[in-house]
Amino acid sequence: MLNVPIPLGFYKAFINRLLAMTDVTCCGFAETMTGNSTSVFFRHDIDTCECIGNLQRMIDLELELTINPGVYVRVDGEDYAAHAFRDLFQDLHARGIEIGLHTSCYTKDNYFGELERERTEFTKQLGFEPRSFSVHGLGDYRKSVRHEFYCAVANRLHDFGFEFSDCHPSLREYHYTLQDCYLDTASGKRFIYDDFTFLPRPKDVQKNYLVLTHPCYWTV
Ligand SMILES: [Zn+2]
Repeated sequence: MLNVPIPLGFYKAFINRLLAMTDVTCCGFAETMTGNSTSVFFRHDIDTCECIGNLQRMIDLELELTINPGVYVRVDGEDYAAHAFRDLFQDLHARGIEIGLHTSCYTKDNYFGELERERTEFTKQLGFEPRSFSVHGLGDYRKSVRHEFYCAVANRLHDFGFEFSDCHPSLREYHYTLQDCYLDTASGKRFIYDDFTFLPRPKDVQKNYLVLTHPCYWTV
């Protein structure tokens, strides 16, 4: 277990270990993999302004290692104004990085209406339409509504102009998630587990892994 922030060199070593595993495929986030290997997907949720500050550095490292992550941007304006970083997101988008919406629509009772509003806001702020979304988790806050939303939206993505999301297992099932945002409630610090050092190995093939990171928790 390691407290954040964690050196990017540690992340690089982790990815290199994955790349050296012959039965593991590191997939582009937007890809759908079928086959006999374990698939690993990389997603960055851009929760804070600090995330944006570290994003370019993290992506440069990933592209150098042939990793193609998904990047999910909030448009609620609570922690940052997405339009202020329009050039950065447009540049990453042009480089083939999946830039999608990090939605909090379930915090409103009319979550479908809010999803549409956020989609429109994203397009206005960043100058291109999001193809995909991920969901901004807020601990237990409206957790049951969040799950209701996942189930309700899973087979209606196209109705809202989206091509994919990983919010529901019917869309993409993750059998294991590595994440950098575990919270030590005693100290208030975020930490990662040793799974970044020793990837827990699946019992059989065709398992999907998600590596969920927030760039604010990584440093040079
Ligand atoms: Zn989030």
